[in-house]
Amino acid sequence: MVQIASVFSMRHFFVLSLALNVSFILRSVFEREQGLNWFGFESEKERITQRTRLSVSSSHSSITTLAEAQDSGERIINLDHGDPTMYEKYWQQMGDKTTVVIPGWQSMSYFSDISNICWFLEPEFAKQVVRLHKVVGNAVTDGRHIVVGTGSSQLYLAALFALSPSDASEPISVVSQAPYYSSYPSMTDCLKSGLYKWAGEAHNFSKEGPYIELVTSPNNPDGTARHSVVNRNKGTLLHDLAYYWPQYTPISSPADHELMLFTVSKSTGHAGMRIGWAIVKDKEVAKRMTKFVELNTIGVSKDSQIRAAKVLKAISDTYEHVDDSEVGETFFDFSYHNMAERWKLLREAVEHSGMFSLPKFPPAFCTFFNQVSEPRPAFAWLKCEKDIEDCETFLRGHKILTRGGKHFGVGPKYVRISMIDRDENFIRFVKRLSTIRI
Ligand code: PMP
Repeated sequence: MVQIASVFSMRHFFVLSLALNVSFILRSVFEREQGLNWFGFESEKERITQRTRLSVSSSHSSITTLAEAQDSGERIINLDHGDPTMYEKYWQQMGDKTTVVIPGWQSMSYFSDISNICWFLEPEFAKQVVRLHKVVGNAVTDGRHIVVGTGSSQLYLAALFALSPSDASEPISVVSQAPYYSSYPSMTDCLKSGLYKWAGEAHNFSKEGPYIELVTSPNNPDGTARHSVVNRNKGTLLHDLAYYWPQYTPISSPADHELMLFTVSKSTGHAGMRIGWAIVKDKEVAKRMTKFVELNTIGVSKDSQIRAAKVLKAISDTYEHVDDSEVGETFFDFSYHNMAERWKLLREAVEHSGMFSLPKFPPAFCTFFNQVSEPRPAFAWLKCEKDIEDCETFLRGHKILTRGGKHFGVGPKYVRISMIDRDENFIRFVKRLSTIRI
């Protein structure tokens, strides 16, 4: 009886805690939309930008959506893809600051700057890429070549093409430490290239000779900071830094690798723009990557590059013109706080359920925010505890769609869950997860 009473009160305690946290998020959203800062004080800057925000909130109210999010357990919650819809709210708040109008006669030529190795790279986009990296301090750009791609996915293939020896008797091995990004194996092998071949988990790689090692840091799916693990002299490293941004991880220093990939999909949330960029030290590698994009798509949409430039500029402006009341709320502060709240809610739901576990991340100093903080990855790498062997199937039984561990080169006890979906979907997810029992 005493036991039942204590379980009963624990459950109530958790539901109360979850409710308080949800209400905290609601309040934050509300305060933001009312022009209040995180502590509830109305700043001068925010008072002035209030009018734009209020007009946004009246047409699309997150408050209404969230408050209505009653979970009957029937609705399918799809968190399989890392679709960055969480960021829509920020860009709505920014109103017309990133609206682009392109007259019909513009962007007609194939060429952007024939004096550049990457001749289809729009100069304004290149300028804003360099500027944002300087503002954030997450990558060295001085003396580097920039190659633009249709998403960093195209640049991944361009990099494999550029880094593979063209005269080898067999395809070069491509390896990555598991769990690795689920698209790498299929992207690498989809055309059964004679140049490169997926060779799986880097720790198991024992073949002599050249290889390419992919280092994704922070890692998709598990959010850990990564370094190369093979460490042999004939290896070439390819760094995928899609998530090396301050909302996801403390920025320790400007990354300075031979070949680094970035994308707007996960930095600003504009996955639909299909824009990524590579920062490349070696001129010949940059040339070969450019050749690949030329053979593949004869360049990259100028319209998208122009739009991406405007979005990156808007972010940098909020940091570099801090005294200008017109620039709006700072992007990384908005996204940092959202991610931090989501991780807090998720950890509480996991604790309450008692059926799952999550990785723990060591706090580190972030040079961008000038403070110590914990990583807040774009994906949760959830493990099913107890005797649940297939976590993806188990959660599907609760109408929660995730991506199982086998896609990432590990076992089925793990699943990857997107943390960057819309508020409504995410809140419904944590509510449902917290109530799951065997
Ligand atoms: N690399 C990693 C690690 C990713 O997670 C993703 C997106 N899921 C990509 C690359 C591809 O990004 P893009 O949308 O720019 O093609």
